[in-house]
Amino acid sequence: MVRAFLADAVIPHHQQWERDGIVPREIWKAAGELGLLGTDMPEEYGGGGQPDFRFNVVTREESVRAGASGLGFGLHTDVVGPYLRELGTPEQKDRWLPGFCAGELITAIAMSEPAAGSDLQGIRTVARRDGTDWVLDGSKTFITNGINSDLVIVVAKTDLEARGSKGISLFVVERGMSGFSRGRNLDKIGLKAQDTAELFFDQVRLPAENLLGEENQGFRHLMQMLPQERMSVAVSGIAAVRAMLDLTLDYVKGRTAFGRPVGSFQNTRFELAELDTEYWVTQIFLDRCTRDLNAGTLTATDAAMGKLWATDLERRAADRCLQLHGGYGYMTEYPIAKFFLDGRVQSIYAGTNEIMKEIIGRSLGLTEPR
Ligand SMILES: Cc1cc2nc3c(=O)[nH]c(=O)nc-3n(C[C@H](O)[C@H](O)[C@H](O)COP(=O)(O)OP(=O)(O)OC[C@H]3O[C@@H](n4cnc5c(N)ncnc54)[C@H](O)[C@@H]3O)c2cc1C
Repeated sequence: MVRAFLADAVIPHHQQWERDGIVPREIWKAAGELGLLGTDMPEEYGGGGQPDFRFNVVTREESVRAGASGLGFGLHTDVVGPYLRELGTPEQKDRWLPGFCAGELITAIAMSEPAAGSDLQGIRTVARRDGTDWVLDGSKTFITNGINSDLVIVVAKTDLEARGSKGISLFVVERGMSGFSRGRNLDKIGLKAQDTAELFFDQVRLPAENLLGEENQGFRHLMQMLPQERMSVAVSGIAAVRAMLDLTLDYVKGRTAFGRPVGSFQNTRFELAELDTEYWVTQIFLDRCTRDLNAGTLTATDAAMGKLWATDLERRAADRCLQLHGGYGYMTEYPIAKFFLDGRVQSIYAGTNEIMKEIIGRSLGLTEPR
């Protein structure tokens, strides 16, 4: 069903959306009508009532394979959804989840700031109490769905005395709130149809009902949710590896040089044999992580390993598969070029791969001297 939806409603328009730098809101509604935006949300809110993450995996795999990299659905369903479902009060869920599932409320999450990406503890966005309200000031950058979003989960400091990861809270900022504005739709080297934007908060008044989760426990909430975000990125990464391998296999069988198919050179066979091996070894580790995620036992370390390995492999595979296409690989009309450009960010967002190594290193009892 996902494949048919992409073929009918997305692929014919994707190049235009790449030129536009954004996808139209109607495509979100179309996906919502098919139930693609809330398979794991409770049925009472219009969701599918099926918490099995493998449904999310199918959507990721199909979207990646189709090159539908403009759709910010993964961020909405795999990343933001769990915050609303797990941390939302019954009143907040009544307010937001039906629109979330229907594709009428597009979501985003804003952690990164111009001066704080990897070092989230260094954020400067602040929410101060004023009576029962909060007043939010600051700015965020690189926010996926930044232009289209109606609801943005914003990470802000709420206790200025607290040090490190303490004193951080999550707020839901809604489209149209006074003082909330969007900056440029940022010009990227890939993911051309995805809107990635700066967001500004100038004295945005938020009622107490827009605090998400517990006050000053924002960092703990982020740590709970980040493993699923990393799995979503890892799953997209390995799906891209499969897609690039299939494209390249096809290409090297058809292209000839020195009177024989390029695929018959030992170098080509060895390159693709190595990549296929790495694909399978990685895929099977990620399948285990998906089962662990479903069982509620996925560790932050395993999620970090999956994200690190799958996205580094994606980068290596993109480079090697493009090389095997020769000059045609450098031409944007060949899909391998798009995979090369779209995939480059995967080792950067959802925590850079260097930060993944820090997490894994800590699990080995290795930390820097204080
Ligand atoms: C297309 C795109 C979409 C994004 N979407 C979102 C989004 O929806 N929401 C959101 O909040 N953010 C989003 N981001 C931001 C992304 O999460 C950050 O870019 C990322 O976390 C890195 O932060 P930074 O860019 O500030 O780099 P920096 O933190 O400045 O890092 C620069 C370099 O230093 C390295 N480094 C930093 N600290 C360490 C360390 N302790 N040890 C070793 N190396 C280190 C990094 O790994 C990196 O190589 C997006 C980014 C992009 C490009």
